[in-house]
Amino acid sequence: MGKTSYTSAALALLLTAMLAAGCAAGGGAPSDARQQVVHVFSARHYGIDRELYDAFERESGLRVVETKGTAEELIARLREEGAAAGADLLIAVDGGVLVDAGEAGVLQPIDSPLLERQVPGRLRDADSGWIGLTTRARIIVYAADRVEEGAIAGYADLADPRWRGKVLARSSTSLYNESLLASFIAGQGADRAAAWAEGVASNLARPPEGGDRSQALAVYRGEGDVAIMNTYYLGQMLASGDSEEARAAALLGIVFPDQDSGGTHVNISGAGLVRDAPNAEGAIRLLEFLTAPEAQAQLSGGSMEYPVHPEAELPELLAEWGEFDAQPFDARALSRYRQLAAELFARADWP
Ligand code: FE
Repeated sequence: MGKTSYTSAALALLLTAMLAAGCAAGGGAPSDARQQVVHVFSARHYGIDRELYDAFERESGLRVVETKGTAEELIARLREEGAAAGADLLIAVDGGVLVDAGEAGVLQPIDSPLLERQVPGRLRDADSGWIGLTTRARIIVYAADRVEEGAIAGYADLADPRWRGKVLARSSTSLYNESLLASFIAGQGADRAAAWAEGVASNLARPPEGGDRSQALAVYRGEGDVAIMNTYYLGQMLASGDSEEARAAALLGIVFPDQDSGGTHVNISGAGLVRDAPNAEGAIRLLEFLTAPEAQAQLSGGSMEYPVHPEAELPELLAEWGEFDAQPFDARALSRYRQLAAELFARADWP
């Protein structure tokens, strides 16, 4: 990030603080205007987030200000700018990235007994400074009119030569694919992971283009028969008013891979508490709000991700998909093996 964006971001923050101070003056309140704002650095791109921030604002009287970017960009800003970045929370769509942020020294421990009750231990590392907000599974979808039910049971099937020219997947540079392969490296070793990447790369129906939704649409249009995608994209397509997306999704069969061999790859979207947070207390309040059962149900209903709170109500669609066996979630392994995963993808010629 260059100096220009730093300056404009700092200016935006200053303006925000001034606005907050202006509002507070009438209501007779806090000595420090910064306490009125929770500043979120977010790599998420789902509309429901703002709705929840608005609900939190109404409940808490705090304002939530978002700065968007890729996790890489946002972590780089936190490293380079320190306190001047003005961020309270870093929100990412990958557990490994939150581990990276912790190791880069830009997070601080989260001390909240309520968060410990609301978020299962396997989905957080409060000592390192992050917690999960939602989970998502990386599944396989297929053209139900051309592919027999049961023909695909696991990720390994995608590398089988019988699917030559039939597999659709987004670019290997996507964090979602890097973490998928990193999980295979952790679970099965680098050699098997490399062989898988090579097998899938030689089965690709076309050079990767677009995100997960594009792969599902390409199956619908007959460009291939099977695709890798995150659950919530399928859920959003099914729930969308957009006729082609909804029609396409309705014609896809769904496989939660590896039910008898290690479980389906699951990742989190989560938040880290920034080391130099001007308003750590407000940030923790926001996290407590977002992981309470009501907000979790709303978040899940809006994004079609899975809630982390075990008692949050699931949208009907996710309830219909039923329970599935998941890979053990290991954010550290995703962080540790991401670079190697990227190298294996490059060697496999998966663009
Ligand atoms: Fe996404």
